[in-house]
Amino acid sequence: MTRADIAVIGGGIAGAASCVALLQRGVRPVWIAPAPTPGRDRIGETLSPAANTILADLGLARLLARPMHRAANTSFSAWGSDQLVERNAIVHLEGPGTVLDRAGFEADLFTAALQRGVTHIDRTIHHAVENDGKWKLTFANGKSRVFPFVLDCTGRSSTLAITQGKRQRTDQLVAAHCFLRQTDMDVEPTPATLIEATENGWWYAALLPDSRMVVSYFSDPDLLPSGISRDFKTWSSLVAQTRHIARWIDSAGFTLHDLPILASAGTTWMTPISGQNWAAVGDAAAAFDPLSSHGMTTALWMARQASHAICAARKGQTDALASYDAAVKKGIDDFLVQRQKIYQQETRFCQSLFWQRRHGKHPET
Ligand SMILES: Cc1cc2nc3c(=O)[nH]c(=O)nc-3n(C[C@H](O)[C@H](O)[C@H](O)COP(=O)(O)OP(=O)(O)OC[C@H]3O[C@@H](n4cnc5c(N)ncnc54)[C@H](O)[C@@H]3O)c2cc1C
Repeated sequence: MTRADIAVIGGGIAGAASCVALLQRGVRPVWIAPAPTPGRDRIGETLSPAANTILADLGLARLLARPMHRAANTSFSAWGSDQLVERNAIVHLEGPGTVLDRAGFEADLFTAALQRGVTHIDRTIHHAVENDGKWKLTFANGKSRVFPFVLDCTGRSSTLAITQGKRQRTDQLVAAHCFLRQTDMDVEPTPATLIEATENGWWYAALLPDSRMVVSYFSDPDLLPSGISRDFKTWSSLVAQTRHIARWIDSAGFTLHDLPILASAGTTWMTPISGQNWAAVGDAAAAFDPLSSHGMTTALWMARQASHAICAARKGQTDALASYDAAVKKGIDDFLVQRQKIYQQETRFCQSLFWQRRHGKHPET
């Protein structure tokens, strides 16, 4: 193991996977991350099949074998038409994805990084300043430490990367989501995911492995009904206006009882994504519209690629971090093409600003 001159900031999937990937290559980083809060719900549970190979490469395949997760075998969508179309995981060559117990998965990943020998500091970074080519990281308690190299895995806040460049964005997508409990236990709900396009956005619902249901509405901030996160009637009547989501909630024996939580869900990325003495990984580098459900997989992929680039740079490959930057940028470009194709499949709501923005007829930002 080489000495700890690399700091990894952030305790999500990107941070934990970066630590594991560095340790796998014989580098022991210092991990600055608040420990996960037990039982805290996290939105975003669908792990795409492509993650299976990356987790296996990181020696973490066993994490998905835990009974708290379930295979993502079936999804339905009403996109481009009122009719529900079923898609079965059997069509994926890589096998099914996984519907995660997200909090459990993150806790397991956190533990895996600790067990492999990372030096952990249970704190938050207040700010990062570059001086003489090194990073001075100041903790929330005012103390600081200097590191020659830092991996920014702080999610959409991009705590360090934002000091080095600019944030780009295509849109302002926002998610209003809540978790539902089953109230009619006589019904056995179908373990599935459902997507429904509507006039001012789209809906997503999934049966979670712990038998709750998550429901999310994606729209633009200026198109959300005012008071949606404060007024239960506004939220419940919006849900009731859907054709399939409302029917599924009801027929599966679930009841809406909580106000939704709002979260940013737009596509954003940093330019640059890395420099000589830093790199961003996960949402800190690029965060994606959740329509594709590939944010977590991309975070795992970036963690593996960035650790490879750091080790190559240490061995004298001077362009290794620039190659990492270019590979992430290519991923973003491919995603943007894919995203536009998917949104263009929905043509029923051509009068709506939400869809006009996604079809390139109005600037999105
Ligand atoms: C509504 C919604 C639905 C989604 N659904 C899916 C889905 O179904 N499938 C999917 O693959 N992806 C989904 N995503 C995306 C996915 O959640 C993210 O891509 C993923 O969480 C990225 O992981 P991360 O570790 O980069 O960032 P995060 O999960 O945001 O983790 C960042 C970590 O850094 C810590 N941190 C922040 N600032 C500091 C600091 N200054 N000092 C120390 N620590 C800090 C935070 O506490 C946190 O632990 C969804 C996203 C949204 C918004």
